[in-house]
Amino acid sequence: KLSARLQQICDQLTPGCRFADIGSDHALLPVAAVLSGQAASAVAGEVNEGPYEAAKRQVAQSGLNSRISVRKGNGLEVIDPGEVEVITIAGMGGALMVSILSQGISKLNGVKRLILQPNVGEDLVRRWLLEEGWYLSAEHILEEDGKIYEILTADRLEKAEAAALNEELYRERLIPGCSQVLNVERLLLMGPRLSEAPVPVFFAKWDSEISKLMKVRSQISKSELEASRLKEEEMRVQIEEWKEVL
Ligand code: SAM
Repeated sequence: KLSARLQQICDQLTPGCRFADIGSDHALLPVAAVLSGQAASAVAGEVNEGPYEAAKRQVAQSGLNSRISVRKGNGLEVIDPGEVEVITIAGMGGALMVSILSQGISKLNGVKRLILQPNVGEDLVRRWLLEEGWYLSAEHILEEDGKIYEILTADRLEKAEAAALNEELYRERLIPGCSQVLNVERLLLMGPRLSEAPVPVFFAKWDSEISKLMKVRSQISKSELEASRLKEEEMRVQIEEWKEVL
């Protein structure tokens, strides 16, 4: 059985698609997706030897060698152009995810959907999607084993349509329950869909982010260095801003 996090990603796959799971580790997602019929076939990509071997074993044990191809390589280099319609990347930082997508941009021709679950740096991923003209069609947030995860689904639409829809999505606005106007920077940070219809986990995430920042700030405040004082002031402003929004 998949974790709730991987199940949510699986549910976002276009039914019957061919997909590539980049950084697949044990290939749990491709195996479950193909076994359940959610996907027709998959490529499991891994850059590291250990996880690559684990993925090969898992696929062989599941009897899925003919439908899941396990490949060793960096990022999108493991897929051929036009080979898959959907790409999933989960369980790594947003900065690494953006570098994988940028480096492999030519492999994205023909890809219709990206399903991305960054562990941190969700704003970097949203910004990249927006700049590259992907339409953020869904956002999910969930808590599992004390951790909070965000899953971003983006679709390739006709260029003008994506631009118009993204403009609407990131339009500066006042959101019910929030005391402040959300501008594009705040929407990139918190998620335009997540903040539009906030669930309790969303508030839990931002409460915990504020507490983390307050902790770091109180550490820094003990330092006498000029640079630390500037950093502390920056954090104070950031904390106030987040508190105002929520
Ligand atoms: N995707 C799985 C999940 O969400 O449960 C596994 C996440 S695991 C924490 C991250 C995996 O990404 C590791 O197995 C690592 O080897 C792999 N990885 C990191 N950088 C990569 C890259 N540039 N290309 C392919 N795989 C990469």
